[in-house]
Formats: sequence, C-alpha cells, structure tokens
Amino acid sequence: YVAVCEQLNRLTPVAGEKRSALFNSGSEAVENAIKIARSYTHKPAVVAFDHAYHGRTNLTMALTAKVMPYKHGFGPFAPEIYRAPLSYPFRDAEFGKEMATDGELAAKRAINVIDKQIGADNLAAVIIEPIQGEGGFIVPADGFLPALLEWCRANDVVFIADEVQTGFARTGAMFACEHEGIDPDLIVTAKGIADGLPLSAVTGRAEIMDSPHVSGLGGTYGGNPLSCASALATIETIEADGLVARAQQIEHIMKDRLGRLQAEDDRIGDVRGRGAMIAMELVKPGTTDPDADLTKALCAGAHAAGVIVLSCGTYCNVLRFLPPLAITDELLIEGLDVLELILRDL
Ligand SMILES: *Cc1c(COP(=O)(O)O)cnc(C)c1O
Repeated sequence: YVAVCEQLNRLTPVAGEKRSALFNSGSEAVENAIKIARSYTHKPAVVAFDHAYHGRTNLTMALTAKVMPYKHGFGPFAPEIYRAPLSYPFRDAEFGKEMATDGELAAKRAINVIDKQIGADNLAAVIIEPIQGEGGFIVPADGFLPALLEWCRANDVVFIADEVQTGFARTGAMFACEHEGIDPDLIVTAKGIADGLPLSAVTGRAEIMDSPHVSGLGGTYGGNPLSCASALATIETIEADGLVARAQQIEHIMKDRLGRLQAEDDRIGDVRGRGAMIAMELVKPGTTDPDADLTKALCAGAHAAGVIVLSCGTYCNVLRFLPPLAITDELLIEGLDVLELILRDL
C-alpha cells in the first residue's frame, strides 16, 4: 500500500508535498475526493461539466451528465451538484470560431455560470476530466483548463482532475493534465492503475489530503495487497516498456489514418483525442447533426468482422478507440483496415 502511494506521489503532476489514499473503484475515489474537498474548504457545492462522466454511485451519478443509461429512474440524486458549460471545440464552432479555439473564452463562459449561479463562497470543488471519456473524448480548447485552475486557486476552490480514464500513459503522457501544464489540487485515478484489478486512488496536496479527521475515510478492501501488487507491476511495466512513447506512436498512426479517411468522407465530422485515446464524431454529411444510427451500424459491423469498438458521447455518435498500449502496429492497422471497409460498405 505504501509503495503504491509512493509511486503515485512520484508520478502525478500535483505540486509540492503530496499524499495518496487508495480505494476500490473510480466512483469510490471520486466520492472520496469530494469528501476531502468539502472537509478542507467547509463549503458544500461541487461543479461538474456538461457531458461529464464520473461514475454510477449516488454522488457520482449526480456528477455524471447523461441521463440514459446512467441515471434514468435511479434518482433522487445527491444535492449541491451544479453543471457548467464545457469547452467542446467541434460543437462550440456553432458559437463562432473564437469560442471553438480560445479556451480562455470558453472558461470565461463557464466561470460566469459558476460565479452567478453558485458563487465561490459556496463552492468546495470543481471536478473535470482533462479529456472526457464517456462524454465523447472531448479535448477542451487550449487554455480552458489552466484558466479554470487559476480561477479555483484565486477563490479557495479545490480543483479535482478525474484521470480515471486518461491516466497511466493512455493519452501519451503519464497523466493528461501534463499536456495542459496544470497541477491539480487532487487527482483521481483508477482503470489503468492496476491493469484490471480493482484499485483506485486520490492523490493530492498534503494540506488538503490531511484535512479529514482520522478514520473519516476508508473501507474494507481499499488498497488490498493483490491489487497493490498489480499496480506496482503495472507501473513498472509502463516505464520499462516505454508505454508513454508507445501511446504517442499509436496516436500518430491513428490520426494519420483517420485524418485521411475524414478528408474523403463528410460523415466524419471530427477526429480528436490524444495518445491511445482517439475518437471520431460521425455526423449527417456536411452538417454537425449527430448520426447515432451510422455509429451503431459501424460498431455492429466491426464486431461482426472481429473488431470490437465502443461508441460514446452525449449524442451516441462518437466512435472511440482505446487500443491496449501493448498492441502491435500490424494488429492496429488490421483493425483500421476492417473499420475502413465497413464504413465504405455503409
Ligand atoms: C470509468 C470512470 C469512472 C468510474 O470508475 P468505476 O471504476 O467504473 O467506478 C469515473 N470517472 C471516469 C472519467 C471514468 O472513465
């Protein structure tokens, strides 16, 4: 347990003295990050963003944006959760080129909502995925995350990065926050941390992490020895096999291929993502209208041909690729070949 925490403290882009605590699932770690932020700030409210996904427990359902399938019929939800507009470059283009490319402007839009509808004096934390996962692999415009973080620092609001999906080399950096040059107050990790065994963590600035009373946080299985051994082996493998660099190579191969497809196919509205976390957003030809049916047909066709791809996104029209970081070039290219054939057939 201690060795895993030492590795997390070494690897995460949190500034200064740090602490880590271990839990079982991503949702459980998100819940604990919120508890820690409330304990530190003595304030109740939490802001999450449009299209956000933070889990399926009661508090994290409240943080998650999309009703179907995650929330429908499962309420009532936890109170004091508010939602702010995200920077979503592909769709922000409807509000003009500036909103799509100027992250600071998109942050101003969000901060205005936060200021006017919640108020910093009531706000414990802002929680955000540096690249959204279930929401559609949305990479915010440059400057969006730094501007939000700066506002949080100036207003005694804890900035929580949910890196459950983006963490551990997935995006071509050990953590996606590194691409933005930001140092969150708390980082939540899970998924890739122990290569499939149940483990999650909250890592953060010591003064914040130390604020809950003794025995305030915990659980029977959090940081169990089997999961911890798996996490240590996983971290060792990521570093020894150069998987951060490998994720960058995967990005290069995929963006090159999907970019060429997009140039000749106006049903592909957007190709985006970082590292081995790449997606394409499918639309009605020549518009930005989501095409969920095409996405479904493409997933089904690929599955029938032996390639498993998942869809995501608020409008169910984003095809996402999360290849294993250990995939070979040959297998990756074969998968893309299959996908291209099926897209042409459709
Ligand atoms: C998967 C996920 C969660 C929830 O993790 P679980 O282990 O499924 O509870 C939280 N946040 C993000 C960004 C995720 O992708």
